[in-house]
Amino acid sequence: PPDVEVLGRSTWTLLHTIAATYPEKPSRSQQSDLLSFVGLFSKLYPCWVCAEDFRTYLGREVPRVGSRDEFGKWLCGAHNDVNRKLGKPEFDCAKWEQRWRTGWKD
Ligand code: FAD
Repeated sequence: PPDVEVLGRSTWTLLHTIAATYPEKPSRSQQSDLLSFVGLFSKLYPCWVCAEDFRTYLGREVPRVGSRDEFGKWLCGAHNDVNRKLGKPEFDCAKWEQRWRTGWKD
């Protein structure tokens, strides 16, 4: 079976990178594509307990796909939900773009 940690790290990289490259002003069809992607992802993610909890989260917090920043923050919240469950530190969602799009400046 896939290694849940390696799979998770690479999957979060993919998901946050999708958020980082999502348009600031997505068209209707881009919004509906992203919603479909998230829904299908939640069925196909090959860690079944993870996928099940992610679907529960989707039911509580409907994905916000109206803009890059909206989706980036929504996804950050979803990732923090998993962080809490695993006892990992929460990430400051005000910083999601610095981490995943523009890069830290120092
Ligand atoms: P990761 O959590 O993989 O994070 C990678 C990097 O993302 C971090 O180094 C940090 O820079 C950044 N980051 C952290 N939090 C945020 C945030 N909130 N927003 C933006 N960036 C952030 N594992 C399980 O054991 N059980 C589960 O039920 C489970 N469910 C999962 C559900 C999904 C949808 C996914 C994608 C993964 C899931 N995982 C689960 C895997 C788990 O989330 C981690 O990926 C794995 O434990 C490796 O953790 P890590 O410490 O390397 O960092």
